[in-house]
Amino acid sequence: MKEKQDLLVIKDLKKHFKIDRKETLKAVDGISFTIKKGETLGLVGESGCGKSTVGRTITQIYQPTSGEIIFDDENVHGKYSKAEQKKKKRDMQMIFQDPYSSLNPRMTVMEIISEGVLIHATNSSVQEREQKVNELLELVGLNKTHSGRYPHEFSGGQRQRIGIARALAVDPKFIVADEPIAALDVSIQAQIVNLLKTLQKEKELTYLFIAHDLSMVKYISDRIAVMYLGKIVELTESETLYEHPMHPYSEALLSAIPLPDPKMERSRKQIVLKGDVPSPIDIPSGCRFRTRCPKAMGVCSIIEPDFVERVPGHFVACHLHDEQVMAREDAVPIHKELS
Ligand code: SF4
Repeated sequence: MKEKQDLLVIKDLKKHFKIDRKETLKAVDGISFTIKKGETLGLVGESGCGKSTVGRTITQIYQPTSGEIIFDDENVHGKYSKAEQKKKKRDMQMIFQDPYSSLNPRMTVMEIISEGVLIHATNSSVQEREQKVNELLELVGLNKTHSGRYPHEFSGGQRQRIGIARALAVDPKFIVADEPIAALDVSIQAQIVNLLKTLQKEKELTYLFIAHDLSMVKYISDRIAVMYLGKIVELTESETLYEHPMHPYSEALLSAIPLPDPKMERSRKQIVLKGDVPSPIDIPSGCRFRTRCPKAMGVCSIIEPDFVERVPGHFVACHLHDEQVMAREDAVPIHKELS
């Protein structure tokens, strides 16, 4: 079978925000990954870990501090004419977490979605645009007779469908879905995930699906990247991550997913991480997860683990999988009671 091509290649991407002369917030601090055409990569981590900044930097809302973003074989931040820039921006769209605040409350659904259609098909007539909006509404499971209504007249799930229709209006190749289901009821979450999956097949879309936990992301992602404090700490196939996580942070996130069987839920051991994610202004030395890691060792505060492919297709940044580091004298657990 022919290997799918990479649509997006991210190389050592950094996005730092200068706070003042002395302090810099390192929201994204050197990450690399690829997404193949038609693939969904899940990007998971607690709030404040930098995952939304990754999405916003890829879609050119932010300029990267350094690193490369190659989309469809071209550097996104290269020198292009205005028309080329516009096309690149159009090819990458975002769906936001809060569909309500991302939709203009004073515009009807017809106006909101036809804005995108107008950008894409500049010479289209009013009738053509209306027809396109109606098609998009039907595609996302909304009634076209409701196109004259305002965002507040819809439920949260319906508003997210409007947000999806708006993103699709410009016929993008790639969509960053930034926690698109986080604000919705669990029953509605599954509907939106299923809709995104159906649309992906129909329109050959590629997704970066951002989520703050691992509960839903499994159902949509081919591979998952786990992010902590500006870095990706583990990346592998979705199934592999759930069955054989290699990073202690992934293990903790997995242990927090509620199990449907109450008996299993009672008997399983949850890994509770102590404290909050440290500030991205003051990142701990060595492994940035060490201040909360139940398996932290002496060496973890001295050496930063590299992000290495330990098993084909399975990347992880943790000394526990590095024979050389584990041979050191200080490779001993510091939390004796937890080891
Ligand atoms: Fe934990 Fe050390 Fe591995 Fe970091 S390198 S995740 S602190 S064991």
